Amino acid sequence: MSLDTQIRMTKGRGHLYNSILETIGDTPTVRINNLGPSHVTLYVKVEAFNPGASVKDRLAIGIIEAAERSGALKPGQTVVEASSGNTGIGLAMVCAQKGYPLVVTMADSFSIERRKLMRIFGAKVVLTPRAEKGFGMYRKAAELAEANGWFLASQFETPANAAIHEATTAREIVADFAGSRLDAFVTGYGTGGTFAGVSAHLRRERPDTRIILTEPANAQLLGSGGRQERKDGGAPAASHTAFEPHPIQGWTPDFIPQVLQTALTNNSYDELLPVTGADAIAWTLKLASKEGILTGISGGGTFAVAVKVAETAPQGSVILCMLPDTGERYMTTPLFESIADEMNGEELALSQSTPCAQFAAE
Ligand code: PMP
Repeated sequence: MSLDTQIRMTKGRGHLYNSILETIGDTPTVRINNLGPSHVTLYVKVEAFNPGASVKDRLAIGIIEAAERSGALKPGQTVVEASSGNTGIGLAMVCAQKGYPLVVTMADSFSIERRKLMRIFGAKVVLTPRAEKGFGMYRKAAELAEANGWFLASQFETPANAAIHEATTAREIVADFAGSRLDAFVTGYGTGGTFAGVSAHLRRERPDTRIILTEPANAQLLGSGGRQERKDGGAPAASHTAFEPHPIQGWTPDFIPQVLQTALTNNSYDELLPVTGADAIAWTLKLASKEGILTGISGGGTFAVAVKVAETAPQGSVILCMLPDTGERYMTTPLFESIADEMNGEELALSQSTPCAQFAAE
């Protein structure tokens, strides 16, 4: 067979992987071509390329391997964690491969897909009432760990969170932008781990890069300036007064995590820009339909802010935006509300425009 010389060819990754866990990280940084102002170049870091399809795979492997090294996690010991879903999914994948039982506590407001994904990896999911918000699922995980002698992953407090982002996410960004300008880095926060690790590394390696942080417009924990009450060790003592439920799953729990607080003190941000849930959803839909990039609502929110920053940025600026997960885990959420499953009038007309394979008229 003669090969079309113009055909797109690939060459393989050049090595065999010893386990799925080795495929975590090294996600692609991708240029945006059809959205945003033309005087600026926008890039997105597509974390859906991780094997569990979110940025939290990094944290999952980071926490588990740090605990294995320190001896805090014993062979076969049960792992427990509170998660809005992606950490739970990442931990479930890691625990499936490494043979640890896993229990995840999650508020029942997060998508059904998240529960099922954790369960297909073999995890147990303990739902908590949405009225008790993030703090409720957080306290449930701590209580279960205490009562059963389980290993609590502590994503909101552990230094392993920022550390893995500094060692992977941040290094990838610096390597990918070697020889290129990088004027701004835009991210939201859940635990603040992405922000903490990337900002620490960029402040050292790319001090000219502006760090832009975002949060939901109706839950401005940072923008409000309100203090977070804490216990010794950094755990939140109460819900933050500025919190309101918002549709940007994975972002901004009802408390300021210790991981985020530490990063605010050490590295800070250059600008804090809120985004509405409606804008986050609108830009998630645009990324899919105009760029072929399917991300979750937090990715759309981050991108909405990146576009806003781009609009007033000097000619030739380069901006990088985090896209934390895949849109496929939002099929049952408001993101897909405008997406039909039945044929619309135009599709029906196409069906009827040629003779074969039509449905019988009712
Ligand atoms: N987006 C989504 C969808 C997430 O699940 C998370 C993590 N909860 C984030 C963004 C924020 O990541 P980080 O915890 O590193 O701040």
